[in-house]
Amino acid sequence: MNRKTLLGLAVASGLLFLAHREEVSAYATTGVQWNVASANFSVNPNFTGASSGTPTQQIDEIREAASAWTNQAQIPFAFNYAGTTANATVAYDGTNSVYFSNTDGNGALAIAYWWSVNNVTQQFDIVFYGRHGLTNFAWSKNPNAGEFDIRSVATHEFGHVLGLNHSASASATMAPIILPGSTALRTLEADDVNGARSLYGVATPTISAIYPESGASVGGTLVTLSGSWFTSNLTSVTVGGIPAIDVTVVNTDTLTFITPPAVTSGPVDVAVSCNGLGTCAASGFRYEELSVSDTVAQGSVVPVNFHVPQYSGAPYQACVSLLGGGDTQLGDWLDAADKRSLPVAIDDVFVWSVTSRTPTWFTNFYGNLDGAGNADGFFAVPSHPAISGVTFRMALCVFDADAVSGIGLVSNGATVTVQ
Ligand SMILES: [Zn+2]
Repeated sequence: MNRKTLLGLAVASGLLFLAHREEVSAYATTGVQWNVASANFSVNPNFTGASSGTPTQQIDEIREAASAWTNQAQIPFAFNYAGTTANATVAYDGTNSVYFSNTDGNGALAIAYWWSVNNVTQQFDIVFYGRHGLTNFAWSKNPNAGEFDIRSVATHEFGHVLGLNHSASASATMAPIILPGSTALRTLEADDVNGARSLYGVATPTISAIYPESGASVGGTLVTLSGSWFTSNLTSVTVGGIPAIDVTVVNTDTLTFITPPAVTSGPVDVAVSCNGLGTCAASGFRYEELSVSDTVAQGSVVPVNFHVPQYSGAPYQACVSLLGGGDTQLGDWLDAADKRSLPVAIDDVFVWSVTSRTPTWFTNFYGNLDGAGNADGFFAVPSHPAISGVTFRMALCVFDADAVSGIGLVSNGATVTVQ
């Protein structure tokens, strides 16, 4: 069994010693590391004292510390939280336990213990201590002066378990000193990142599955990506080159996002980009059309609903126009005579031309977006011999509340053929 200590302020000479060193990159390794991609750990949230927070808050701090190495160093290794434990003594018992011990750490704030076989880590325990001599340690999730930061110290100890020894770089998380009130060790320095990467390399996110595989071209589809090594601060998602909305890294294997509106419909690549590493994964996502049947009868009324997330929370008006003959509107595509003779059934249905922003004669969908950006209503299909058998694209558009100053075309919708 090996052990590494994190010394408190009591070791002032150590701090002074480090202060005059000028090494920029000075990480060291223990010679022991994992040969698997992840390790579970359990937490006994048994810190005492008001500043240490509730058990749930204590667990959150430990979890944040454990994930710091995967997220900040972007290494292909993860400590995964596996629930609580009642363990409170150092033991080779098959459980990687993190807990508080209200005993004397003999100068150490916390100690990481690990067991190895042939330099391969088998198990670890991380123990936070209660005092040194007559001095009690105050543990905190948000330290004031005189209190020690649970998350910072845990991040340091998880670094030991990862395989890092103390660094000679005074600013590193793996430096052997932490000051009371400091949260500095929560954030890895370049020296820590280099050390972790020297052991495990750099993770490359991959996508193994995407669900659903398609969604409305207007956007708003909640998509789940399954894969590996998604990290919260190094991963961005674009859909067809457009940034996705509400990207959420659930864990290293799961990421969710909401699709932005498509520029054009059809298959679009979903790319996961890593800062500084370029595009590291891509898979197909297909923008589908509005849920309108492929063939619509002249004069029929087709239910339409769609979601325009970027225009939520405002009194926008939504509309659907028919596009035909390239991107020309139906009104422009038909000749003047047909325009004049085309029956108009307006009723409550407002009619707009996207380009002129003035009411025109062809029948459209019209409705208001609710506060969440949803619109639902119906689309009244024009009736005229000239459009029989013609395929149109339905285009979604959004206008300001006054219905005069148009935001204009949002995206392309369903392709429909008029019977
Ligand atoms: Zn240490």
